[in-house]
Amino acid sequence: MVVEEYEVIVVGAGPSGLSAGIFIARQRAKCLLISKDLGGQLNLIPKLENYPGTIMSSGPLLAKTLENQYLTFNGEMVYDTVVKVDEIEGSTDLSVKTTRSEYRTKALVLAPGKVPNNLGVENEIKFQNKGVHYCTKCDAPFYQGRITATVGVGGYLLESGILLSRMASKVYLVYRGGQLGGDKDMIESLKKKSNVELVPNSSVTYVNGDNYLQEIKLKDNSGVEKAINVDGLFIEMGSKINLDFIKHLIKINTKGEIEVTEGGKTTHPAVFASGDATNIPYKQIVAACGDGAAAGISAFNYIEKLKGKPGIRSDWKKTIGDTVFHY
Ligand SMILES: Cc1cc2nc3c(=O)[nH]c(=O)nc-3n(C[C@H](O)[C@H](O)[C@H](O)COP(=O)(O)OP(=O)(O)OC[C@H]3O[C@@H](n4cnc5c(N)ncnc54)[C@H](O)[C@@H]3O)c2cc1C
Repeated sequence: MVVEEYEVIVVGAGPSGLSAGIFIARQRAKCLLISKDLGGQLNLIPKLENYPGTIMSSGPLLAKTLENQYLTFNGEMVYDTVVKVDEIEGSTDLSVKTTRSEYRTKALVLAPGKVPNNLGVENEIKFQNKGVHYCTKCDAPFYQGRITATVGVGGYLLESGILLSRMASKVYLVYRGGQLGGDKDMIESLKKKSNVELVPNSSVTYVNGDNYLQEIKLKDNSGVEKAINVDGLFIEMGSKINLDFIKHLIKINTKGEIEVTEGGKTTHPAVFASGDATNIPYKQIVAACGDGAAAGISAFNYIEKLKGKPGIRSDWKKTIGDTVFHY
């Protein structure tokens, strides 16, 4: 098999990986973006309100725009899954194995993002984005003055309840145990909210409606079921980050996230990372794009350093006479 060689390979075509790719390809480095799909979590956002510079956009539209921008700079792209990254003996290069092929690269940018966990109840998938949501901080503003329920685990559930209580007319906070777990101040604050109803010892068993969600069914620990009318159900069951393909080469924190420092540097000199799979505090598109750009520039500077060149400080330049100054 012919092993194709690249200067930088980016894993993941969500907003972070696509942004990294744009900044690498624009420097005319030979860049390959490998991804299972286009857009990642952007595909779960039919209405996007908080990405600066866009009004009335959607996640898939942003993904397509970013992809076009990347391809404009002659970046290459392949739809595949990265299954293993290894160091190559006697070289600083890395080998990247996918389900269908194998590549060799000088530097790697990881942007594999995360996938929210489902609740696993009947009809859940049917009502995704039609009343069933997985990101309260993203979608709570769509429920101003409306009736909502939230179900989930630990701090995610508390945060969801507090955010919804600021927007919704009513919030049912559903949890399996007798007591809420997590930050005591948040629990006290929730208990004081007049529009929040705690529903302990219960789980959501069923969601239903016509085109949009109208009703959920709750079952308590003694088996008694009751239906309540809601406009929105927020599921905050955490999310999965799959780093099996790279975990032997980089430091991963206790939450399963890639540890990065300034500029998306990981503990491996040739590996950079950005977006939701890293230890950044705010998992939002604008942060994923910004950090993707930074990780892309860091990866480019790394390959320039291997060539004995100085690299760039940012992606803009000024020409004075015959000399080009990079900043
Ligand atoms: C329901 C929902 C609504 C949201 N709404 C908003 C919102 O309104 N505003 C906002 O700012 N943020 C929102 N977010 C958060 C936002 O979508 C994420 O912060 C952002 O998508 C993270 O980008 P990313 O590139 O790091 O990861 P992702 O978007 O998760 O993309 C990761 C990519 O990597 C690919 N990949 C993973 N592993 C591999 C592998 N081994 N090989 C090849 N490819 C791989 C995936 O297929 C995917 O394409 C929302 C999230 C959800 C779940």
